[in-house]
Amino acid sequence: MKIAIVGSGYVGLVAGACFADTGTQVICVDVDEAKLARLRRGEVPFFEPNLADVVKRNWPKRLDFSSDLARSIQGCDAVFIAVGTPPNEDGSADLSHVLKVAEDIARLTTHDLVLVLKSTVPVGTNERVRNVVRQKTSHRVSVVSNPEFLKEGDAVNDFLKPDRVVIGTDDDAAFAVLHRLYAPFIRRQNRIQRMSPKSAEIVKYASNALLATKVSFINEIAALCDAAGADVEHVRTGVGADARIGYSFLFPGLGFGGSCFPKDLRALVRIGQDLGVSCGLAEAAILANERPVATMLRKMEQRLGTLTDKTVTLWGLSFKPNTDDVRESAALKLIQLLVRAGARVRATDPEALAPAKVQLESSRILNKVELFEDEYVACTGADALVIATEWPEYRNPDFVRIGKVMKGRQIYDGRNILLPESVVQAGFAYFAIGRPDAIPNA
Ligand code: NAD
Repeated sequence: MKIAIVGSGYVGLVAGACFADTGTQVICVDVDEAKLARLRRGEVPFFEPNLADVVKRNWPKRLDFSSDLARSIQGCDAVFIAVGTPPNEDGSADLSHVLKVAEDIARLTTHDLVLVLKSTVPVGTNERVRNVVRQKTSHRVSVVSNPEFLKEGDAVNDFLKPDRVVIGTDDDAAFAVLHRLYAPFIRRQNRIQRMSPKSAEIVKYASNALLATKVSFINEIAALCDAAGADVEHVRTGVGADARIGYSFLFPGLGFGGSCFPKDLRALVRIGQDLGVSCGLAEAAILANERPVATMLRKMEQRLGTLTDKTVTLWGLSFKPNTDDVRESAALKLIQLLVRAGARVRATDPEALAPAKVQLESSRILNKVELFEDEYVACTGADALVIATEWPEYRNPDFVRIGKVMKGRQIYDGRNILLPESVVQAGFAYFAIGRPDAIPNA
């Protein structure tokens, strides 16, 4: 089979490489020439574990890269759209890229094909795309909704071993094409769920909204623990032990971020408004997600006094570990607040320094932040250290080295990954999310 995937970002490139890995002929299309040039040199333009290996073993035999949409879609059984759907000012999903690509494909195709909507799009988009397509071609273009559920940091594994493959179509022939493409990934158990395009579109938003709500819920409980003097880590394990609830996405911290949860929650609220349905839970989850970063700053001000001219070191800039994605990262939100409060910031991350630099520059605060490759060098002269992202290498740090270079003796654990007793034993005061403060004896 031959397919094209338009949009070679986190989703498009992972999908393209994984489809190629099963013998499908794949062309990944993008408008970003710099990204394509790197891909053609055999480089993966962002950090995603194991992706480089899959790309390398398929490129150029079964996997190629192009900016020429017309040529790329020639002879394709299916063309996937995996371009971004960023938020508009009002929270709704910006569909301009999706609609433009769909229109171009319809205009350029010289044969019948299946057009697959992989981008996360609001309910009703499939129908909108069908209308756009119908006006541009007389070929039979069947529009299928196939939302993607991979998570950055484990995207290749998620794509190769999906929990489910949702296919929204009422067209049997189009379904058969998708079934054949996905068959190699679901050999052990058929995980394909066929449904209407509208239901498929809603599955994606409902899944992300529920996961984000779990995070906001436990953060609200963490605030309660803070106020009551309880330990949210004990509460979390007590709650998660109930098999009906489970432990996943029940980790308190500085809040969720990334390119999906915040944007998809806001889009869900907008979709509800458009349909006359109040999505109050999603709204509350968005609101609750603002609190942990502000609470952390307040804790620091209580302990350090004014932050003006204080030096704060952050470990972690990406929105979660194992990715270099800094979109809507809690670490960057905290940096904004720290800079506004007059602090000097020193920050580090194993993978996200380059994208963080771009982001800090566009927020015009790069001149207030020093970035370091080495986490211990980053601690030099710091009054406080904040763990902002739970990278594995931050879980058991060398406190002696930290103690030698830091000026102060305060560690703020924004992800509750350290053992309070080991921090205190090393002579540091420990402050976390929803946990009692732990202070060494004077
Ligand atoms: P991304 O920003 O990493 O990649 C999008 C790519 O599309 C970019 O390389 C961009 O240059 C390209 N592009 C934009 N306009 C184009 C055009 N006209 N022609 C060709 N290429 C074009 O985005 P992403 O994170 O891969 O997300 C893509 C979609 O998948 C979004 O709707 C997102 O919500 C959804 N999604 C993302 C994830 C995730 O974890 N990142 C997971 C599931 C679903």
